Amino acid sequence: MINITKRKEAPQSLAKEKAKANGSYREEDVVLALYEDSHNKCYLCEDTLLTTINVEHFHEHGGDKDLKFDWNNLHYACGHCNYTKNDTFKKRDSNLLNCANPECLVDYWIIYRLEEDDKLVAHAVINQNPMADVSMYQKETDNTILLLDRIYNGTGTAIRNREAANLLTRVQLEIINFKENLLSYLSASDGLSKQDYKTKLGKAIADSSPFAAFKRWILRDNGLASEFNLSPE
Ligand SMILES: [Zn+2]
Repeated sequence: MINITKRKEAPQSLAKEKAKANGSYREEDVVLALYEDSHNKCYLCEDTLLTTINVEHFHEHGGDKDLKFDWNNLHYACGHCNYTKNDTFKKRDSNLLNCANPECLVDYWIIYRLEEDDKLVAHAVINQNPMADVSMYQKETDNTILLLDRIYNGTGTAIRNREAANLLTRVQLEIINFKENLLSYLSASDGLSKQDYKTKLGKAIADSSPFAAFKRWILRDNGLASEFNLSPE
C-alpha cells in the first residue's frame, strides 16, 4: 500500500445517484476518477491491470446512504482484496490506515518484505516499522497489517490461498526484475549507465508502478532511501 491523492471534487453522478431510490455509486465517472487517481492499481495489494475491479467502501456503508455515496469513502480495489477484507473484518472493527490521508505514511509505517524458501516459494512479511511513530493510528496500523498479511499470504480458504499465491508470484517477478536493475545500478562503473539504471529504478518505485511499497523497502534496506528521495528518511 502506498499513499494516493484523490481529487477533491466528487464525481458528479454520486449526488444524482444518491437522490434515487436504487442509485449506483459506480457510474462511469466514478470508476474513471478512481482509475486515474489510483493509477489503475488496487489500493490494497498494489496489483495493476486488474481483471476484477471493485468500487470498495472504505467504511462499510451497511445501507447508510451518506457512506454509500461519499467520494471519500470509495476506493479502487481488486476482487481478491475486497473479499479478503470482508472475510477478515466480518462484524469487527475494520478501521484501516487510509492511503488517501496524507497524515498516514502507509508505505513507511509498514514494512513490506518478500521472503523465499529453498524452493522459491514466496511469503510476504508485513510488519510495523519500529522507527515510525504510529501511536495516533495504532489500531488502524494493526488492522492494516493483519489484512495485508492475509491478502498476500492467504486466509485459509482454498480460493483465497490460490489467489494470494498467484498475487505473490506477480510480486516475485516484479522484484526479480527490480533487483537485477538495482544490482546493475550498484555495480555500474560509468556515470551514464548508472544514471540509466537510476531512472529505471525511479520508475519502478513510482506511484503508478505495481508493488511499489515492496520495492521502496528494498531500497531502504540497502541504505538508499535518501538517494531515491524516499521520505521521511
Ligand atoms: Zn488487491
